[in-house]
Amino acid sequence: MHTQERFAVNYGPPVQMRVCVLRTADVSEQRVEKLIAAVNTEFEPYGIDVVVPWVRPWTRSGFAHRSLFDDVIAHELEAPCDRLVAFVDRNAGDFLWGLLMPEVLGSVDDPTHTRGFVVATQVSLNQVFTPPGKATVHEFYHLLGCPHAGELTDCYAQIAALKRNIDPAADFFPGVDEYGQPLKTRDAANHTLRQAIAGQ
Ligand SMILES: [Zn+2]
Repeated sequence: MHTQERFAVNYGPPVQMRVCVLRTADVSEQRVEKLIAAVNTEFEPYGIDVVVPWVRPWTRSGFAHRSLFDDVIAHELEAPCDRLVAFVDRNAGDFLWGLLMPEVLGSVDDPTHTRGFVVATQVSLNQVFTPPGKATVHEFYHLLGCPHAGELTDCYAQIAALKRNIDPAADFFPGVDEYGQPLKTRDAANHTLRQAIAGQ
């Protein structure tokens, strides 16, 4: 929930966040564009412009026992991507969906907040209440390091702090570690997530 603080915070100059996209075959590129547009409308007051360097069909690793999330976070961030998001359709006829609770509309990794997935299905029973645009915006707040909270007041400060931590030489929109600290380079984000996966 937004609070008045939203417009009281100085977010600094406008920046781009480059989000590379994987999509399952049943999520069209137009659908991806619409969802990203919803995020840009939401993030406009923060001076964050989400751009998409590329959209690729999602070719799953084929490990049937791996969860969808594990599959996404196993991807390294490659330049110029600041984030990697998979857009998936719940109607994919994928038996792995059975492992996810029906109310799960996406997820973002905690160790770096740089990778995640969003359920982009147009219509499903529970999405009558949470439309995909809203689910996408929700997950993209996690990509800025914002945790779950009743209201977004702390999140505004988090966003402003994250933008202040951009290192122009790094050519990277910082990730956020599990303690809320910035990961200023792509290498740092990749290394941190690799370590976290190895330590599981
Ligand atoms: Zn969430």
